Amino acid sequence: MKKVFIGLGSNLQNPLYQVVSAIEEIKSHNDICLLATSSLYKSRPVGPQDQSDFINAVILIETKLKPENLLNDLQIIEKLHSRVRLKKWGPRTLDLDILMFENIIMKTKKLIIPHPEIINRQFVLMPLLEITHQNFNIPLKGKIKKYI
Ligand code: ATP
Ligand code: CA
Ligand code: CA
Repeated sequence: MKKVFIGLGSNLQNPLYQVVSAIEEIKSHNDICLLATSSLYKSRPVGPQDQSDFINAVILIETKLKPENLLNDLQIIEKLHSRVRLKKWGPRTLDLDILMFENIIMKTKKLIIPHPEIINRQFVLMPLLEITHQNFNIPLKGKIKKYI
């Protein structure tokens, strides 16, 4: 079993509901055990500013799935929430990012772990800190407290 942090975000069609129900869907996955859930955080969008605020959260899960299979199942959940990809960093009903997968470091066409933007995004760092601690180590980057 591997521990994985997942970042959730939404700014369309009742974002609060999108995030809370996505956490429930992840929790009910047969091969996933939900270990911790952060509070819900409100943030301004990155990139294009002509869109609504986001609701964000980070969860910690345990799973035996391989990274590619987890990504696939998370994308199925995004689709369930009618996620459509229109423009880069545009509005979305649900975004599920694999932030970290144990201490794995990987970079393929489909998957970069750890997620390269973790340290640049307070809406990821804040909920991540809430369910970890100041000295928590982000692979390749070092302690979380350096970035908050
Ligand atoms: P960002 O990655 O900057 O947060 P985004 O979440 O808006 O941007 P998406 O359109 O949701 O980007 O995803 C584009 C592709 O990114 C996905 O199809 C997936 O293959 C790839 N990807 C690479 N690394 C990851 C990761 N760690 N978690 C989720 N998707 C990833
Ligand atoms: Ca994202
Ligand atoms: Ca994404």
